Amino acid sequence: MARSFDVAIIGAGPGGYVAAIRCGQLGLNTVCIDDWKNEKGKPSLGGTCLNVGCIPSKALLESSENYQRARHKFFEHGVNVHGVDIDVGVMQARKNKIVESFTGGIDLLFKKNKVISMHGKGRFVSANETYRIEISDDGKSENVEARHVIVATGSLPRQLPGAPLDRKLVVDSVGALAFTEVPRRLGVIGAGVIGLELGSVWRRLGSEVTLLEALPDFLPVADEQVAKEAQKIFTKQGLDIRTGATVTLAKAGKKRVTVEYEDNKGAQQALECDKLIVAIGRFPNTAALGAETVGLRLDSRGYIEVDARCRSNLPNVFAIGDVVRGPMLAHKASEEGVMAAEIIAGQAGQVNLEAIPWVIYTSPEIAWVGETEQQLKNAGVAYHAGQFPFLANGRARSLGETSGFVKILADAKTDRIVGVHIIGPYASEMIAEAVVALEFSASSEDIARIVHAHPSLSEVFHEAALGVTKRALHI
Ligand code: FAD
Ligand code: AMP
Repeated sequence: MARSFDVAIIGAGPGGYVAAIRCGQLGLNTVCIDDWKNEKGKPSLGGTCLNVGCIPSKALLESSENYQRARHKFFEHGVNVHGVDIDVGVMQARKNKIVESFTGGIDLLFKKNKVISMHGKGRFVSANETYRIEISDDGKSENVEARHVIVATGSLPRQLPGAPLDRKLVVDSVGALAFTEVPRRLGVIGAGVIGLELGSVWRRLGSEVTLLEALPDFLPVADEQVAKEAQKIFTKQGLDIRTGATVTLAKAGKKRVTVEYEDNKGAQQALECDKLIVAIGRFPNTAALGAETVGLRLDSRGYIEVDARCRSNLPNVFAIGDVVRGPMLAHKASEEGVMAAEIIAGQAGQVNLEAIPWVIYTSPEIAWVGETEQQLKNAGVAYHAGQFPFLANGRARSLGETSGFVKILADAKTDRIVGVHIIGPYASEMIAEAVVALEFSASSEDIARIVHAHPSLSEVFHEAALGVTKRALHI
């Protein structure tokens, strides 16, 4: 007899494991099925985000930034350090410890919330009154039944046919998080969020980094002015960013890789490097799910089709996170998980896809929420912009992090804030105030009249709001 549950969740990334906790809190009898194994071959909950994504990348970004500060910034404070070097082994061990403590923490959260955790690959086998799911691992399998299913199987790195991974010299983001030494010359295919963050880590540690990006413009997903500022700053830091460069082939020899690409003038070019990271995006992980067995509808790109409430075409089957439309971000996955759990429990869950913050953890950080200037122009929306530089802020000066600005875009008729774009220190933290502003339909006047602590980076946000009506005080 198959064990029976109210809810079966397939995938324990930030979408699935958060959905499972919320289901447990709501008193639903829940199983969470996950097939992730770490490099030691042990089950490890948390999906891409905890194992090979957000958490390990942020650990390495912090370590490498500290190295960079010690070498190039401490002296400004009169702190003279000599003989600074980097022990990549220690840095990686620290990262692994952080990952282990978080992935282990999910086990505890599951126990606390009475979620049953099962290890193995989950696959739909039949759909009647309930859904039957087979869980298989190492040749063994067992079935469970559930009235509701939440699919949270995430995404996988996209491969470039001409640049097959050998997992030594040519790696994806997983391999790039585990380098045991600093490559002298590092190539990165794709200057998206992941390529930029990983390129930054190894550049700070001493690699000569070249990013090859097929699109003609740098970071087209961000506000144009932010993207331009970022390109200027990153180039000054030493990242060689080549846009309009389409990679067709990468050949790994014994010790180095030769990358062939077409440049922005259509000429054939070659790049030699010691390691190559392929970071050209991710695709939804639906291949082994048995979607066709039960008639779960996918779109032409393999994403599970869902409505605004994450409901699929099958009754009581939800899909959340990277496996459905919308940005591939951990917090978006988690909020969709909470929404699905609450709808299953008869509550009114919702996620506002218009107010999802984006963050790129480069230095300076980049973060935004809502519309960009180019989106507003294309949509013919009249707007006012207020902008303020970090250079004129006391806290930024004392941190020694003065690059960048905050820009607030407000509807010209109503003054409602429709977009906020930040490039600067701790943009990842500062964006929270902007998200609250958007969610509460704040006007720039509302923000302008709120007291912000002094000296703090949040004053830059305040001054940008004042700037919408041309009354910034410190510029
Ligand atoms: P995933 O985290 O991919 O989890 C899916 C889980 O399901 C996995 O454990 C997988 O093994 C399992 N699974 C798949 N199929 C099956 C099956 N059939 N049966 C059982 N289990 C299955 N996002 C941010 O918001 N901030 C960041 O800073 C950030 N940094 C990133 C850095 C890197 C290098 C990468 C690669 C990604 C980063 N992301 C970041 C993106 C983020 O990791 C994803 O958006 C997030 O993990 C998606 O969550 P998910 O639950 O949808 O899927
Ligand atoms: P992201 O989707 O943010 O992870 O970014 C991936 C980036 O890789 C995008 O900006 C793509 O334009 C870029 N890209 C995709 N294919 C290629 C290719 N063959 N050569 C260079 N860049 C590519």
